[in-house]
Amino acid sequence: MLLARGLHADLLRARRSALPREACGLLLGTRGSGSSSDSIRIRALVVADNLARGIDRFEVDPGAVVRAERRALAEDWQLVGVWHSHPRTEPRPSRTDREDAFSGWIHVIVGPEEGAVRVRAYRIVEGLARELVLCPEDVPRPRRRASRPSKGPSAPGPATIGSP
Ligand SMILES: [Zn+2]
Repeated sequence: MLLARGLHADLLRARRSALPREACGLLLGTRGSGSSSDSIRIRALVVADNLARGIDRFEVDPGAVVRAERRALAEDWQLVGVWHSHPRTEPRPSRTDREDAFSGWIHVIVGPEEGAVRVRAYRIVEGLARELVLCPEDVPRPRRRASRPSKGPSAPGPATIGSP
């Protein structure tokens, strides 16, 4: 799944400006042929007001959904998902994120991890989150060894979070 140029920086900026609260919004994009999420290209973000009362929650303003749908229609894109930020915790779906997730959508989370702020993407179905490979077009990929990924317990990469 591709993240169009500039959007990675936009996500980091939106997270920072919402602190200490969560930022949230919607993802607009296109789906290539096939149903795999690999073929999705995220082309634009809609930043929404966060209507949640709690500091560690988000609730996308329904007005932003209407704006996102209009823009999708105008550009011949689709509403492909939702994004939100974690002010303090790693960019992995919390229990609330998993319970409230709409399974038809991509869920992008931006949060601090190992001294940096990272962006991760998931599909969440019936409380179970599966990480997707997300490639920002303008952010160099960390170098990886050419061999197969290691199977050790500390191996980074896609993982399944939660229980059914
Ligand atoms: Zn969350």
